[in-house]
Amino acid sequence: ELRVEDAIQWFTKVNEKIQENKDYLTSLDQVIGDSDHGINMARGFQEVENKLSTQEYQEVADVLKEVAMTLISKVGGASGPLFGTAFLKFSQAVKGINPVDYTSFTSGIEEALQGVMHRGKATTGEKTMIDVWAPVVHSFQEAHDFEDNPFLKVAKQAMEDTKDIMATKGRAAYFKGKSIGYIDPGAASTYLIFEALEEVIK
Ligand code: ADP
Ligand code: MG
Ligand code: MG
Repeated sequence: ELRVEDAIQWFTKVNEKIQENKDYLTSLDQVIGDSDHGINMARGFQEVENKLSTQEYQEVADVLKEVAMTLISKVGGASGPLFGTAFLKFSQAVKGINPVDYTSFTSGIEEALQGVMHRGKATTGEKTMIDVWAPVVHSFQEAHDFEDNPFLKVAKQAMEDTKDIMATKGRAAYFKGKSIGYIDPGAASTYLIFEALEEVIK
């Protein structure tokens, strides 16, 4: 189950991890992008933390909506609207359900993935954050509760596996075959989001 305070803690931890990994995320984007992913994410999630630590929320959906709106409005790069759409769709899927049980969480994360794919006009195998979101969603569908769900292992492997993919979406696509051999920046930040989730849910 995810309660309001768990959802707030989730994104507080996401912010900590993003700030700690700001330079790392930017270094990944230096090789196959424009060297701003860490900067974009750090700015966005710091704003999220500022909101979450001062406002009051009735239900998990309200927290997710706040995260979404903040990322959409504060992050300049492609990643802001993409993560923003993910959490907006997630919010809509769990509206009125509080706390969010495993089945509802699974529906929420499915909607989040659909939102990213639709917004980014992208699918799996294109070396984007979708290559981590999709296997994590699958892991949620296969498992029956948070305890027996190996989503973090799945996310880590999926992030590593983006090395082998040639980018066909986003800025990395300009690098064509030269994008092979490197982790996708958005895949790495998606991994951090699930690492933070694991810490609050297990
Ligand atoms: P920008 O590319 O605008 O500088 P960021 O560097 O913050 O934005 O984010 C880049 C990340 O966004 C990529 O590593 C990738 O994971 C993700 N991304 C880019 N384009 C798409 C897309 N069309 N669909 C899904 N994810 C994408
Ligand atoms: Mg970039
Ligand atoms: Mg940019």
